[in-house]
Amino acid sequence: SKLIIEEILEDLQLAEPHWSMTLLRYFNPVGAHESGTMGEDPQGIPNNLMPYITQVAIGRRDCLSVFGNDYPTVDGTGVRDYIHVMDLAEGHVKALQHCANKGGVHTYNLGTGQGQSVLQLVAAFSAACGKPLPFRIEPRRPGDIAACWADPAKAERELGWQATRGIDAMCADSWRWQSANPNGYEE
Ligand code: UDP
Repeated sequence: SKLIIEEILEDLQLAEPHWSMTLLRYFNPVGAHESGTMGEDPQGIPNNLMPYITQVAIGRRDCLSVFGNDYPTVDGTGVRDYIHVMDLAEGHVKALQHCANKGGVHTYNLGTGQGQSVLQLVAAFSAACGKPLPFRIEPRRPGDIAACWADPAKAERELGWQATRGIDAMCADSWRWQSANPNGYEE
């Protein structure tokens, strides 16, 4: 898992003190390149929420299953910190610029600091694609936690990076990609 990889890299850095290690902790990447030419194209049934939503919107799937609406959150559905992939990309550039010549282990959260519920994301996506999205409430998915979001303060302080794209841009760009490429990269 991610934690084990971080521990291996921390041990390696102890053994090789001149190495520079940067550990970036992604939250929930969504969105696509603004051009609509590059985006997410998972194989098979999407496990993640955003690609499932985009496939419902394009008509490849009938209905979104919302996994639980009895969590202690704003509307009972799970809350996550969605981050636009282009913000994530910019975070990597800043990390390379800042850390490349700096020994030690540097760990940063790359998130927005803002949580969105499943139903908030569905509403924002419906606005972006201009139609309602069919969904039904299903049982909780085993292993899911109620809410998870980043504290990105260290990345802002040390890297001079912060996410600039909000949930509306994330949805608009995911939809631009999916609507221009209904079957992903297949065509
Ligand atoms: N989720 C959902 N239906 C789906 C996929 C995900 O309701 O088809 C919910 C899930 O329970 C969680 C949120 O959406 O609250 C984000 O799930 P995802 O798998 O995208 O990310 P992760 O759980 O790994 O943070």
